[in-house]
Amino acid sequence: MPPVFLEHPSSLEHETGPHPERPARMVAIERELTSRGWLGFERMRSPVIERSALEAVHPEAYVEAIRRVSLAGGGHLDPDTVVSEGSFDAALHAAGGAVRLVELVLDGEADFAFSAHRPPGHHALPQRAMGFCLFNSVAVAARYALGRCGLDRVMILDWDVHHGNGTNDIFHASDQVLFVSIHQSPLYPGTGRASDVGSGDGRGFTVNVPVPPGSGDPLYESLVQHVVVPLGRSFEPQLVLISAGYDAHRDDVLAGCEVTEAGFAAMARAMRRLCSSLGAPLGAVLEGGYALGALARSVAATMEAFVGPPALADEDGAVGVAPLAREARERLSEYWGALG
Ligand SMILES: [Zn+2]
Repeated sequence: MPPVFLEHPSSLEHETGPHPERPARMVAIERELTSRGWLGFERMRSPVIERSALEAVHPEAYVEAIRRVSLAGGGHLDPDTVVSEGSFDAALHAAGGAVRLVELVLDGEADFAFSAHRPPGHHALPQRAMGFCLFNSVAVAARYALGRCGLDRVMILDWDVHHGNGTNDIFHASDQVLFVSIHQSPLYPGTGRASDVGSGDGRGFTVNVPVPPGSGDPLYESLVQHVVVPLGRSFEPQLVLISAGYDAHRDDVLAGCEVTEAGFAAMARAMRRLCSSLGAPLGAVLEGGYALGALARSVAATMEAFVGPPALADEDGAVGVAPLAREARERLSEYWGALG
């Protein structure tokens, strides 16, 4: 089955003015992938999300409020989060792409899928837009997989440099979604402390791994290999979604991390190996990433890692256990014995 790249021209109609989260991001990705023959991916237009699937995360009144603001010409929902006339439709397609991705990989119609739209989603709370995000596409997709597709266990790895506070909160009390976020701290939105492990039945199923500014490929790769992958082996997800933001890149000015294309590729290969060992389908949903060239090359590096030649089996463990990875394992061993 060919891998699929989900997109929609409405992503260009979400107009944000002078803003880092801008239509040129999509243009840069398209240009890079065109120059590389789309890496063998089949391009597919994302449908609009079904209202019932969207409202499984966002209450109807909130969806209607976003629709009204957008159709009235838009405005600022907060100092960072802008809506234009085209934004509501763009956000419906962004969530629709993430849901279509779930259907494609679960039905075996695609070995892997990448859903690339604007606006991003991981900061959006059920009733509040924030951090450039209107609807939480990855959360809507995960809930669709659990509800409509009948899955019991979904894992979300969020490697955007900002904490995915929306996804964190939406599944805070759930033991059906293992949410793992690696993010710079301190940084917007200020949430995602290591001590936030979820609540109720969901204790231990929210995993926050804050990293300091300056963190680069070695630390990110170590955290994925020695924390994220062992968590996945213990949880045994039936589906893995990556909230794939690229603002941890060293060229990105919205944060201070130093990840490169090679680092994103290594993390993607590690997740591919995890999924193939579990027989779990894998997909990625675009979040942030504001340095156009770095964003485009990193998206391509991720896609290439998923469809390129399989990595050597002994690549697992090739990166040493960083002190922060050791600390995270010790902390998490209370909930996940295998990490002790
Ligand atoms: Zn971000």
